[in-house]
Amino acid sequence: MSEQANVDVVVVGAGFAGLYMIHRMVRTGRSVVCFEGGTDVGGTWYWNRYPGCRCDVESLEYSYDFDPDLQQEWQWTEKYATQPEILRYAQHVADRFELRPHIRFSTRVTSAAFDEADQRWTVTADDGTVTSARFVVMATGCLSSANMPEIEGRDSFQGTLAHTGRYPKEGIEFTGKRVGIIGTGSSGIQAIPVIARTAGHLTVFQRTAQFTIPARNGPLDPAEQAEVKANYAEIVAANKRMFGAFGSRHRRPVRVALETDPEEFRREMELLWERGGSLFLSTFRDLMRDPAANQLAAEFVREKIRQTVRDPETARKLTPDGLIGCKRLVIDTDYFETYNRPNVSLVDVSAKGTSITRITPTGVQCGDEHHELDVLIFATGFDAMTGSLLRVDIVGRGGQRLADVWDGGPVTYLGLGVHGFPNLFTVTGPGSPSVLANMIVGTEQHVEWISDCIDHLDANGYRTIEAQPESVQRWVEHVNSVADQTIFPTCNSWYVGANIPGKPRVFMPLLGFPAYVDRCNEVAANAYEGFALA
Ligand code: FAD
Ligand code: NAP
Repeated sequence: MSEQANVDVVVVGAGFAGLYMIHRMVRTGRSVVCFEGGTDVGGTWYWNRYPGCRCDVESLEYSYDFDPDLQQEWQWTEKYATQPEILRYAQHVADRFELRPHIRFSTRVTSAAFDEADQRWTVTADDGTVTSARFVVMATGCLSSANMPEIEGRDSFQGTLAHTGRYPKEGIEFTGKRVGIIGTGSSGIQAIPVIARTAGHLTVFQRTAQFTIPARNGPLDPAEQAEVKANYAEIVAANKRMFGAFGSRHRRPVRVALETDPEEFRREMELLWERGGSLFLSTFRDLMRDPAANQLAAEFVREKIRQTVRDPETARKLTPDGLIGCKRLVIDTDYFETYNRPNVSLVDVSAKGTSITRITPTGVQCGDEHHELDVLIFATGFDAMTGSLLRVDIVGRGGQRLADVWDGGPVTYLGLGVHGFPNLFTVTGPGSPSVLANMIVGTEQHVEWISDCIDHLDANGYRTIEAQPESVQRWVEHVNSVADQTIFPTCNSWYVGANIPGKPRVFMPLLGFPAYVDRCNEVAANAYEGFALA
C-alpha cells in the first residue's frame, strides 16, 4: 500500500546524526520525517550488539554537546562506555527531545529521485511509503553496511552464524560451545577476549595481524566526571581544535620522533602505552608522515606483543608487519593476553595453503584442515562510507544516478553535497573528516551547518542549493593532496575501500578536523561559495 506525504525534510537514519538532524528541523519549525531500518534509534549502537562492543573515544567526549542540560545530567559509568550504555543514551535523547513521533522504524528508504519541475525529492521506502520533500538528509552512517564476504558454502553452515554489525538482539550463547570468529579488526579484537571467557573453544581466523593498543578501561572516577562537567564548554572547544576532535585533556607536547633521542622516545612510548587509548600515535608528528618514524612506533608495539604472548609461534603470527595506524588503530582490552588461554587458538588464513577455502555445514575448511564449530561470527567489517548511500537508488538532475557519478569513487564538495543532486546533504559524507575524528563532534558540526544552510536558503528566497562541478573537483583534489602527505593511502584499509572486492581505490575521508571546520564556516560566511543557489 502506498502512502503520500509532503514534508520539508526527509532524514534517512536514526543514529546520532539522524536524531540531532530531526531535533534541529523540529526546533526551526520544519516538518520532518525520518526513516530508520532498525526497530529503534541508535544506529551503530543498535546494530553492533556483539560481546565487548564499546566506544574508544572516552565516553565523556563521545557525547552530544548541543544541549548543556543533557550534558550535565547524563552519567557515564565507564571511561569507555559499553554498547548497551551508549544505546540507552541514544534512546534517552530520542525520548527527552520527543523525536520518536518523527521516526518510522523498520522502514528502509529504497530510492530518492529529484523532480526538476517542482524542485522536490520523491523518497520511496520499502513499505510502499512515498514522501515528497524539499530536502533529503542522508544520515545513513559511515559504518552501517555490514560486509559479509562471499565465501563458498557460507549459507550452508548449520550452526549459529552472525555478523558483529547485525548482531541478534537476543544475543548468542557461547558457554561450552566451539566458536569461530573471522576477522581481527576493531570489532573482532573487542569480541575475542569476551567470547573466550565462556566458550568451550574459540578459534580465531586471522587474515592480517593488527596493531592494537590497550584501552586501560575502567569505572569512571566520579571526581573526574564532575571536573569535566564543570568545564565542558572549554573542553569541547579545545577538542574542536584537536586533529581528531577529542583528547585535549590528555594533550602532550608534540615532537618529532626522528629527532628524539632513542631512550627518550622509548620513555614517551612507554608512558603512552601505560596510559592507553587512541592518542597513542599523537605525540610524534612524523609517525603518520614518515615510514621510517612510523617503524619506530611499530617496532615498540611488536616488542610488546612478543612480551605478552607466551607461545612464540602464536606471537609471530600475531605480530603485524607494515605501518602502525595506517589501517584504523585498534584499542583493546586483554586482546594479546587472550592467546595465553588454553581454549583459544589462532589460525593464520593469510597464506594460500591455509586460507579459508569454504564454509561447510559443520565448520570452516582451511586448506587440508577442517575446524568443527557450533557458532561462527563474522567480524568482517563494513562497506564503509559509501555502502549505505549507494544501497539507496539516488537519482538526481537529468536522471543521473549517484551510483554512476561515483563509479570511480565518491566525489563531493565538503563531504556535504554532490553536483547534480540539489538539496541532498550527506552527514559525515566522503570528503569530510567523518571516520578520522570523534564522530559525534563531526556529526553535530554537519547537522548545524546543514540546518543553518536551510535557514539561509529560506531567509533569502532560494529553492535549491547544489555543489558546483569546479568546487567538487577542487575539493576532491584537496582531500587527496592532504592524504598524500601522509602514509594513509599506502595501505589496504577500508579508508581506501580495499576491503570490498571491486570497490574503487580512493582515500575517502579528509584528514584534519579543525582546518575543515574553518573551511566550512568560511564557505557559509561567503554566501555558500562553491554552491549554486537558485
Ligand atoms: P549510524 O549510527 O551508522 O546510523 C545510521 C542509521 O541509518 C542506521 O541505524 C541504519 O539502519 C540507518 N539506515 C541506513 N540506510 C538506511 C536506509 N536506506 N533506510 C533507512 N535507514 C537506513 N566513532 C567514534 O567517534 N568513536 C567511537 O568510539 C566509535 N566506535 C564505534 C564502534 C563500532 C562498533 C562501530 C561500527 C563504529 C564506531 N564509531 C565510533 C563510528 C560510529 O559509526 C559513529 O560514531 C556514529 O555512531 C555514527 O552515527 P550516524 O548516525 O552517523 O550513523
Ligand atoms: P575491519 O576493521 O574492516 O576488520 C575486518 C576484519 O575482517 C579484518 O581483520 C579483515 O582482514 C577480516 N576479513 C574481511 N574479509 C575477510 C575474509 N574474506 N576472510 C578473512 N578475513 C576477512 O572491520 P571492523 O573490525 O568491524 O571495524 C570497522 C571499523 O568500525 C573500525 O575500523 C572502527 O572505525 C569502527 N569500530 C570501532 C570500534 C571501537 O573500538 N570503538 C569497534 C568496532 C568497530 P584484512 O585486514 O586482511 O582485510
